[in-house]
Amino acid sequence: MYATFLFNVIEQIYVEKSKKLQRRIGIERVQILFSNAMYYASINPEISRKQLKVARRILLKFNIRMPYPDKLFFCRKCKSPLLIGVDSKVRIVNSPKLHIRVSCLKCGNVYKKFLD
Ligand SMILES: [Zn+2]
Repeated sequence: MYATFLFNVIEQIYVEKSKKLQRRIGIERVQILFSNAMYYASINPEISRKQLKVARRILLKFNIRMPYPDKLFFCRKCKSPLLIGVDSKVRIVNSPKLHIRVSCLKCGNVYKKFLD
């Protein structure tokens, strides 16, 4: 009875530790994938799109929040990977207030980021 309880506790600790480790490895891999995708964007756009898709899957699996500049690589509506300048258009607009306007060329969705 006591032995099984102890075993369960040890197993629980091990699982939690391994989950943290998986998450850390996931973050590391996502960073590598993002840098590789930026490198291959001009050489082979198809490969960099695939890498961005894999990075997004890892982010969703481990529930990792993306920092702002990485969010520019995905469309908010159709969730497809965007290469800046190829699949998306980025403009700085000053009409009502200074903001960055990102438009997806696949679905036509426009996303605004206001600057303070
Ligand atoms: Zn889109």
